Amino acid sequence: MLSVQEAEAIILSLVQPLKTEQDRETVSLETANGRILATAIASNLDFPYWDNSAMDGYAVRYEDVKDCLPEKPVTLEIVEEIPAGYQPRITIQQRQAARIFTGGMLPQGADTIVIQENAQKKDNLVSVFAAPQYQEFVRHRGSFYQAGNPMLPSGIALGASDIAVLATAQCVKLEVYRRPRIAILSTGDELVSPNTPLQPGQIVDSNQYALASFVSNNGAIPICFGIIPDQPDILKDKISQAINQADIVLSTGGVSVGDYDYIDLILEELGGEIHIHSVAVKPGKPLTVATFSNNCLYFGIPGNPVSALVSCWRFVQPAIKKLSGLRDNFSPTFIKATTKQELRGGGKRETYLWGQLRVVNGEYEFSLAGGSHSSGNLINLSQTNGLAVVPTGTNFIAQGTKVMVMQVD
Ligand code: AMP
Ligand code: MG
Repeated sequence: MLSVQEAEAIILSLVQPLKTEQDRETVSLETANGRILATAIASNLDFPYWDNSAMDGYAVRYEDVKDCLPEKPVTLEIVEEIPAGYQPRITIQQRQAARIFTGGMLPQGADTIVIQENAQKKDNLVSVFAAPQYQEFVRHRGSFYQAGNPMLPSGIALGASDIAVLATAQCVKLEVYRRPRIAILSTGDELVSPNTPLQPGQIVDSNQYALASFVSNNGAIPICFGIIPDQPDILKDKISQAINQADIVLSTGGVSVGDYDYIDLILEELGGEIHIHSVAVKPGKPLTVATFSNNCLYFGIPGNPVSALVSCWRFVQPAIKKLSGLRDNFSPTFIKATTKQELRGGGKRETYLWGQLRVVNGEYEFSLAGGSHSSGNLINLSQTNGLAVVPTGTNFIAQGTKVMVMQVD
């Protein structure tokens, strides 16, 4: 059986990132948050845009004040006042200065700022008591960024910090990758939707909703196909529609070896090439991964709600990230944390135990979710933000030990 790492590597090798012209769309700066930049950004503006003052004080000529001392102050004539946003009109001559405020544009002739703490103003005169450094507190035009240089690379997910940079550079329209379309099918004769009263033997389809949230959380568009009964003809028809509409298809249920588990057979009938049948992971051992000639990537995920989400977090998420056009960091983030409880593993399979990761006194701690860790139980899955990993071959990890915890959301 494939190890988790082998399975992840195979999945990533099967993903073709969105990269054609049709995979790009233009969005406004206001709607760009969370999107993935498709073209590298360069600005035609320098930053700072012009020489300006980093402090409140006086714009002076260094020559005039370089020798001043507390006992030997130099007095300069104030010829202009320059608040931020004002364009200076007067060139500073010998023994002149301008009153200037933070962000104010440096006037012609001046090259240095004397902070107001080192000066004393009286009417239109200012006495400087301490010599500044040459060019002190001047932010020079283009010193942080020069027009035309690379500013942001393509393949990054835009967050508040990137949006700030883009706004400053006046990039009001941006090319981003389109959001991947991900079809979700819940298979099983026993399933009913959450708004249908339960009959004996039925089970509410929670996977449809869980996977739709998962897909949205990953910046993709869920296409919900609803509940599909365990009838090969109907399954085949719906799966075929899904493959034609979506970049990735996620179906839950029907991938074990039970009498009603038809998925693998149908995928083969539809011309799919199956790359993975199962992975040495707990929960979630049966996992079908197939590709189709239109590049659609198919994940046949086990039906147990916990197995379904764990499979999505561990195997589908890296695929979505790569498909989306992100340049790197496809794999989940693992954090070293101290486990508050003992952890039990599945021997031959890498085991993922759900719970909560939190920082206590500056150190990460993992608290195992209370209640049963049967993959059939999903009630204690709520508020899961970490999955502790018990490596293959390890059956027991003592409380207080450092373990790797996979971050999930
Ligand atoms: P399967 O993988 O089809 O054998 O399903 C395994 C278990 O998960 C069964 O107990 C199913 O009833 C349950 N299950 C399957 N699909 C769903 C679903 N969409 N929502 C909730 N439970 C499900
Ligand atoms: Mg089933």
